[in-house]
Amino acid sequence: MIQVERNQYEEMKHIVKTNLCAECGGELTIRTNPETGSLEVWCPHNPEHHGYVERETWTQAYRRGEGAPLAIKDKIEKKMLPGGYEVGTALALIKTRFPRADLDDPSAALFLMDCIRLDLDPLLGEIVPVTFKSTDKATGEVRKVVTPILTEDGWLSLAARACPERWTGPPITEPIIDKEFKRELCDDEDAWVWKAVGKTRDGTESITYGWLKRKEWEKSKAAGTPAGDLPGNQARVRAIKRWVRETFPEARKRMMELTSEWLTRGRERGIDEVQRVIEAEYHIVTNREGEEAGAGASNEGDSEPEEIAADRRRIEASIDKLGWGESKLVAYLQDRCRDKAVTTIQKIPASKIHQIANELADWELMA
Ligand SMILES: [Zn+2]
Repeated sequence: MIQVERNQYEEMKHIVKTNLCAECGGELTIRTNPETGSLEVWCPHNPEHHGYVERETWTQAYRRGEGAPLAIKDKIEKKMLPGGYEVGTALALIKTRFPRADLDDPSAALFLMDCIRLDLDPLLGEIVPVTFKSTDKATGEVRKVVTPILTEDGWLSLAARACPERWTGPPITEPIIDKEFKRELCDDEDAWVWKAVGKTRDGTESITYGWLKRKEWEKSKAAGTPAGDLPGNQARVRAIKRWVRETFPEARKRMMELTSEWLTRGRERGIDEVQRVIEAEYHIVTNREGEEAGAGASNEGDSEPEEIAADRRRIEASIDKLGWGESKLVAYLQDRCRDKAVTTIQKIPASKIHQIANELADWELMA
């Protein structure tokens, strides 16, 4: 348990460093709560204040459409890809910035293209390449696929630039300690759970939750991934990312297009891990509703029970056999699927619909 306490302390330091009081904008500190004897992050200006808001850097502000002092603006622009760089230099910078991704030229170029399409900057840490490899048992050929992962900063920049007329700033975040609430939310009273509450310019408020279950944490700990060291931060980041997706459908839509491409890339190379990571990271193409239950007021019409998500994943996962067009498929579904399944199918990108038609055609032939 000492381990957990150390994690908690690291996390509090992280919060204090990267956040401000959501009510007065003042610096946060860590103190010992005299009543419980435990450590907590609090606002020294007023003990009644609660909630944290991201401390925005000039770079973040600039990327989200605000002005920045000229000297800083100049530096940010110099750092930004690909402006001002030859393609070769840009690729070299990306490779140097992410040594662990072990990028070759083609995969670095592909990653760069994704960055440009999303208008996100890898050198500023808005988007990160993750490389998956597998070895073909028959030929010994090593196959590689690079999947871009958006960071918290990336999601917030994306939202700000996709919807400048609605963006007013990042959400306020707060940890949840109520065990009963946690159990209802994610079926794990020991999960790390954070809440993100944010507003858009028209005053609409939306709330989302992010969590890391105890079991996930144990796995991360064993695997040595960041969530193992900062589990609460992982939950906080998930709450923020979910808030962006649900509050800014324009940003979500752009991501849907790209994640569907990334899935295809992984599949073409026969690397299943890509699909799992994209599902875990984006929850978009394959929205896992078991986890989204109770995820907030802003997502009505957008929920999907896990059984249906599973159906859809199965359908989506099957590909490359030919037959029906879209209209025949829709007629087929309306004829025999559960009502909910039709809703499910409507969420599948049009580009995939022929694949699904083909699989259904196969089932028909087998029946
Ligand atoms: Zn305060």
